[in-house]
Amino acid sequence: NTPESRCGAVLTIDLAAIAANYRLLQQRVGPAACSAVMKADAYGLGAAQVAPVLRQAGCRHFFVAHLEEGIALRKVLRGDETVYVLHGAPPGAEMDMLEFRLVPVLNSQQQLTAWQGAARQLGRRLPAIVQVDSGMSRMGMPPAEVDAWLAQQDPKAGLDLHYVMSHLAVADEPDHPFNREQLARFTAIRARLGNIPGSLANSSGIFLGPDYHFGLARPGVALYGGNPLPGSANPMQPVVTLQGRVVQARTIAAGDYVGYALSYQAPAERTIATVSVGYADGWLRHLSNKGHVLIGGARAPVVGRVSMDSMTVDVTGIAPSLVTAGALVDLLSPEQTVDDVAALAGTIGYEILTSLGQRYHRRYI
Ligand code: PLP
Repeated sequence: NTPESRCGAVLTIDLAAIAANYRLLQQRVGPAACSAVMKADAYGLGAAQVAPVLRQAGCRHFFVAHLEEGIALRKVLRGDETVYVLHGAPPGAEMDMLEFRLVPVLNSQQQLTAWQGAARQLGRRLPAIVQVDSGMSRMGMPPAEVDAWLAQQDPKAGLDLHYVMSHLAVADEPDHPFNREQLARFTAIRARLGNIPGSLANSSGIFLGPDYHFGLARPGVALYGGNPLPGSANPMQPVVTLQGRVVQARTIAAGDYVGYALSYQAPAERTIATVSVGYADGWLRHLSNKGHVLIGGARAPVVGRVSMDSMTVDVTGIAPSLVTAGALVDLLSPEQTVDDVAALAGTIGYEILTSLGQRYHRRYI
């Protein structure tokens, strides 16, 4: 009766694989530095467990989205690493950023002015990244706003600018001409800023080639085993394994229904097992009547709607000893990856990872 056996499902996170993925990416971008994007609790895998392992693997630059995520990360990263906050300091929270040694990504003139105000108040220069918009229209200053900023007297007063950064919109489509377009726009804006070190590439961006590496790469999903090269073999090591448990099994007759909305009707006698993972655990409801789980290596197709805490699978023909209550069922494994399941659900691996939820027994290896 261990915590693991009491629990409905087991999520195993391979920290050694995350470290190996980091080393591979760092090798690829060297001599540029390689950071780690840790937002959304390290893409759902647990920032508190992942960050020290990356630190050990040599990572010194970490990115989160929000101030609160940065404060949480500082509890496990207490040394000389830099923790950057992608959304910058919330208005009026500049001193909180400094208290926790968090470095803002400044996305607007308003954020620049507030950070420069804090620098003036303290009588010293403050570290920051400035983000420019090279074509995604999401975060950062568009070129005209950069020009307006630079037209001011002493525009960089009080700032110790570590990097100028931007983000790619279609890096996962290597042949898309907009990659080159963003690279050209970024290069032009960076030149206007005096060629301070740049940062442009996410996971897929790293594989667009050295032109995209600049001084600092910012991979997220590839660290966690996601394929940065959709459509080609995944160069990253798998990180996530997910096992659910059989709750119960039953034999149903031809014509019987399974699940909400009666969306599956058995064409013949079938054995149906109920598995302890549902949409509240990130097995998206879109996966109703789609895909399969693996039981002893055999495919058991998902039948019926995925429920909040369970799903039903067709185990007809699988040895009854493998489908007794408590038996383990493979949902995510090297045979069926996060990216495979995402494709089936019509989404991306990022959404599957960040939807995994908090109910699993988590095993870090
Ligand atoms: N940089 C920024 C600004 C991001 O928002 C993200 C995540 O979306 C990343 C880097 C990491 O992206 P990826 O997970 O595709 O490597």
